[in-house]
Amino acid sequence: MRQFLEVKADHPDGIIFFRMGDFYEMFFEDAVIAARALDLTLTSRDKGREDAIPMCGVPHHAARGYLARLTELGHKVVVVEQTEDPRQARGLVRREVVQIVTPGVVIDDEVLEPKRARYLAAAVPGGRGGGFGLAHIDASTGELRATCVADLESLAGELARIAPRELIAAERDLAAKGALGELRERMTGCALSPVEPAAPDEADELLAELAVDAGGELAAAELALARRAAATCVAYARATQPVGTLPLTRLQLYRIGDAVVLDETAIVNLELLETILPGAPGQAGRDRRAGSLLSVIDETVTAPGGRLLRKWLLYPLVAIAPIRRRQDAVEFLVDSQVARERVRRELGHIHDLERLAGRASLGVATPRDLGQLRASLGRLPALAEELRAGARPGGEMPELLRLDPALIAQAAELEAELARALVDAPPPTLKDGGVIREGFCPLVDENRRLADGGKEAILAIEARERERTGISSLRVKYNRVFGYYIEVTRSQVSRVPDDYVRKQTIATGERYVTPELADLEAKILAAQDTLLAREAELFRGLVAEVARRTGMLLQAAAQVAAIDVCAGLAELAQRSSWVRPLVDDGEVIDIADGRHPVVEQSVPAGTFVPNDCQLDPDSRQILLITGPNMAGKSTYMRQVAHIVLLAQIGSFVPARSARVGVVDRIFTRVGAADNLARGESTFMVEMRETAAILAGATRRSLVVLDEVGRGTSTYDGLSIAWAVAEYLHDAVGCRTLFATHYHELTSLSGSRPRVFNLSATAREDRGRIVFLRQIVPGGASRSYGIEVARLAGLPRPVLARARQVLADLDAGAGLGRGPQLSLFAARPAAAEEPAAGAAKEPAAGAAKEPAAPLAEDPVRQRLLVLDPDRLTPIQALTALAELRELAAG
Ligand code: ADP
Repeated sequence: MRQFLEVKADHPDGIIFFRMGDFYEMFFEDAVIAARALDLTLTSRDKGREDAIPMCGVPHHAARGYLARLTELGHKVVVVEQTEDPRQARGLVRREVVQIVTPGVVIDDEVLEPKRARYLAAAVPGGRGGGFGLAHIDASTGELRATCVADLESLAGELARIAPRELIAAERDLAAKGALGELRERMTGCALSPVEPAAPDEADELLAELAVDAGGELAAAELALARRAAATCVAYARATQPVGTLPLTRLQLYRIGDAVVLDETAIVNLELLETILPGAPGQAGRDRRAGSLLSVIDETVTAPGGRLLRKWLLYPLVAIAPIRRRQDAVEFLVDSQVARERVRRELGHIHDLERLAGRASLGVATPRDLGQLRASLGRLPALAEELRAGARPGGEMPELLRLDPALIAQAAELEAELARALVDAPPPTLKDGGVIREGFCPLVDENRRLADGGKEAILAIEARERERTGISSLRVKYNRVFGYYIEVTRSQVSRVPDDYVRKQTIATGERYVTPELADLEAKILAAQDTLLAREAELFRGLVAEVARRTGMLLQAAAQVAAIDVCAGLAELAQRSSWVRPLVDDGEVIDIADGRHPVVEQSVPAGTFVPNDCQLDPDSRQILLITGPNMAGKSTYMRQVAHIVLLAQIGSFVPARSARVGVVDRIFTRVGAADNLARGESTFMVEMRETAAILAGATRRSLVVLDEVGRGTSTYDGLSIAWAVAEYLHDAVGCRTLFATHYHELTSLSGSRPRVFNLSATAREDRGRIVFLRQIVPGGASRSYGIEVARLAGLPRPVLARARQVLADLDAGAGLGRGPQLSLFAARPAAAEEPAAGAAKEPAAGAAKEPAAPLAEDPVRQRLLVLDPDRLTPIQALTALAELRELAAG
């Protein structure tokens, strides 16, 4: 217990997995927590005593699974092993902490997902106005990135993109910045661990040996915060590995603006990683990842390739040159089908070099790991050769596809070294030996011979004794308790010679030993012990050799991963007939026959209807899309966003041709129909998202708005949608796709020159609505709702009355005529003359006669139709904005 209590004192916040023989035991509060979480039986030490200690345990061979479950639940587990052979221990067996597993620091291959990194993140708030340093690390590969974000909103946004499993920060600092509660609320599935950040000089020390990749320029203060965050990650992750060394070689600094900014809303709404709704019940694809953009474009063959593609997708580039470099690589592999196929075949033989290098560095690599590493390294020359063979005679190799020859040479050297030392098919663990190749070490060879030779000698003894005694059933056998012995069946016992010493009686006969056997046995065991010890020592030496090359291995792994991503994108482009988009610094988006990469795959082949899209902040800035539900509006808008994103990650795109003037940020606001029922709070969310768009969008941004204002009453909703569209037009100037069922909005194109109406078409076919999925210029028919009602069989008088009411509303509202004039006047309650038969002809005067005397003063006119008693705050604000605009002329 003393040992346990000592460890616990050092790690009060962890569950201690305390190795005792074949079990990991847990005590006290740890046992209570673990028993509940893992469904184990809680027992107690010194049962029956009043102060009995609660305990529970898991068998060591099954520990990985239990450990994983505890960390998934957000616990930290401290693994304490016996670091001394109990047979040789005098008194208490020595025990040490060998590993700490936390939700964010996991290196167990069985727990990690192959195509997804597991991140630990650290946030370090700066002083007043100083933003936050933010870093993240993947302990299994040593990937370490750091940046600085300006405020809580960008912190949350960037954290959503990183999706760490654990965030470390000093709670006090976060609370001081008002960030604690907000982060807790938004970071579901992420444990928050209170840790003091590294001080600046500590950061210098911790990061001293790392190469630094500086992406964008960070100002001095930002840089300092980013480095402190990185150092905080490093210190925490290092502390979890008291035995091994993290595979850390470089620190990548980046600026949020180096990539297209994608906040959580955009990632979710564009279904980049997961679909919004799970697949239909019973459908195979209930996994929400199937059907995401990532799953559709992921044709990578290797796990590091898969992880890199995910990163490319979440950080699309904004600088033209690197985008073109990627495009060149993809195009090269699209053009040469033979090279692509061969390259992908080679890639199929390359294991997860990053994590293999990581495990070597961490000291947990198995013989099989090194075997896989060797095999993978052996493929690099062929990979390089296949790529070169794909080049046209005299043609240039794209930069991204050029494997560095120096790296290949170093890899070959390491491969040769491993090949000399390791057997052809190394076993999964070290414990039974059989790892070191013959001819590598005389001591190994000799002892292996002795052990094997001893076994042969034993066979010879068996033959000899059979002859000597005439007992044909005599056998020499081995078990752990007695070692080697001679077994004779009952019927033959009388023929046993005197020099046999009886050891044990069994049902079928007797067991004996002889001095000769005992002697041989001692020799065999000694040889085996020496052999195993020497093999283990040599193997550890090999692991250390590999660990020494971590930098080289990670670099090679990164190059292979990039080749894999490009080859995968090329495969996709070829198979799905995608084209290379022209990506430039201009502001135009011009897509001919664009398709939705995901929906196209989910409808029968050849039935997806392609559509064009032209966006230009100077002329067609806002595309306002109307049309019935299910007509294809959201699909159209998302497909444009997907094509832009794909273009900016360097991929080909699903279109006949495409030109993409880069965007700096993609904003989305999608009113999912299923949200409607949830009422007010949903509307609040919708407005929050809309506010974020209006505050954050620049002229370079792409904004996708689907059904803004739907979460509230028609008039509120329409007013807000109207005002938002105007604001985007007048104040922001960003390229915008705006789908709405508020038909009234189409009249905006009359007053706002850069608003362009599109509609999703439908036609009637023998009493059924058929969606053509074509997006055509012009607003949708005003009365499609009534048409649908007719098809659904509403009685004729009702339909007639509906048409009449619609006509009245249209006439009364007059939305198409004056710019903002009668938006509120259309509402009976807001009419200025209660006597005017408001219910039937609301505000007729104001709308029908825009040239009435009041019109000379539009501000006054607008003011007079307002009824402050009945305005909602949103309406008031919108009206105020309009008034200001009117006043400004
Ligand atoms: P809306 O946003 O207008 O309600 P959606 O974009 O959600 O409509 O489209 C509804 C369905 O129509 C989609 O799930 C898809 O199956 C199909 N669809 C949409 N666009 C197309 C298209 N261009 N070609 C073929 N099918 C389409």
